[in-house]
Amino acid sequence: VVRTRFAPSPSGRLHIGNLRTALFNRLLARHHQGVFMLRVEDSDAARSDATAIDGLQSDLRWLGLAWDAGPGIDDPEDWQQSRRAALHADAAERLRTADAAYPCFCSIERLAALRDRQQRAGEPPRYDGRCAGIDPAEAARRVAAGEPSVLRLRMPADGVIGFTDRLRGEQSFPAADLDDPVIQRADGSPAFLFANALDDALMGITHVLRGEDHLSNTPRQLVLLERLGLDAPCYGHLSLVVDERDAPLSKRRGAPGIDDLRDRGVLPEAICNYLARLGNPVPDETLQTLDQLAAGFDVSRLSRRPARFDERQLRHWQSLAMARAPLETLRPALQASCIPHELIPAFIALVQPNLQSAGELNDWAVRLFDDRDVMTDATRARATEVGPEFFETVLTMLESADTSDWKALRAQLEEATGRRGGALMKPLRQVLTGLDHGPALGAIIHIMPAAIRRLRLQRAAA
Ligand code: GLU
Repeated sequence: VVRTRFAPSPSGRLHIGNLRTALFNRLLARHHQGVFMLRVEDSDAARSDATAIDGLQSDLRWLGLAWDAGPGIDDPEDWQQSRRAALHADAAERLRTADAAYPCFCSIERLAALRDRQQRAGEPPRYDGRCAGIDPAEAARRVAAGEPSVLRLRMPADGVIGFTDRLRGEQSFPAADLDDPVIQRADGSPAFLFANALDDALMGITHVLRGEDHLSNTPRQLVLLERLGLDAPCYGHLSLVVDERDAPLSKRRGAPGIDDLRDRGVLPEAICNYLARLGNPVPDETLQTLDQLAAGFDVSRLSRRPARFDERQLRHWQSLAMARAPLETLRPALQASCIPHELIPAFIALVQPNLQSAGELNDWAVRLFDDRDVMTDATRARATEVGPEFFETVLTMLESADTSDWKALRAQLEEATGRRGGALMKPLRQVLTGLDHGPALGAIIHIMPAAIRRLRLQRAAA
């Protein structure tokens, strides 16, 4: 059975980039009727924040990305990394005993100086292996004597470490290029790379889709698991999501967080439909459910190029989601009192395809039901250009017309005003709503109270 996971570090709210990772893992699991798990990677206490654990759960729930294993379902020991310290320490100890890992006593100052020297020489930063040759018994004595140390994984000296990436195909890394990574910090807590790979194996994760920024961790994690005699998952490294300047999305640079989008009234369906298509060709251009998206999900088709986040695309999906939103979800946002109660359902149905957020219902309510003047300077200038006779003619006609039959009414208006098409509709729409675009004009004329229509047309004719 396919088991995937989303494994965020709880350092803040979810944003578009890590959310897409969660979504793809969930789609992959569902595609195979497998299990999608949520694991919280909070081993690094300094960078973890307990409220963020709640925040990311509520973000995922709100988006409809429920997990099949993890918080609320299983014991914390099964999903919260910081509660698994004993398991991690045990595995680290096994590696040390087998001499697959060794204590490193190098001070932070020495490592910083080494990095500086390498940087000046134009070399990539890497540990030089100074402690790799210390006799294990001697190292054990120094550790026992209380000398501070970290634990490093011993990487193979030569050869090539290869694996098949689900998106990128064959990958190979010369072992000589990979230094010995820290797997356990001086305080005994597991390093990211270690806890992450170990937990994947212990939790039976079969597939890992994660950001391309983790690609260079993978060969080290493969060696680690191999040394522990554990099965590695299949890895697929996703392209990053970038902004319009091609910089990776980050909240610091102003990328919207999921909480920001929610506060703006963006619907979960819109976010999921947009993200599902970011770097993923989905042939169907209608709004899809998660199950529909999962049915067509194919990792091998995901793009290897950076995916550019585009607000306009998100707005497009938001309009589609809004048009389909059920009445009950929109209605609470309508606070305007100018609208007759019995007209509320018809009013919402009429304007909802034009909404970007439910709050905009109030603006439309004012435009269609309030006696306030909605014309802008631009629409007023345009009305003057058209001339008062036109509006007077329409005004008189509408007094006695049957507004429920728009086709017949339009024919009468054309006949009476001598205008047709845009020349008829545009000035009418502008004067009645104050806007250039919106729901069908016939429906607007029909739902608008006669007194409001009259008022607007009289203002335009004045
Ligand atoms: N905690 C890691 C992160 O948030 C998880 C990486 C992975 O998915 O393996 O980047």
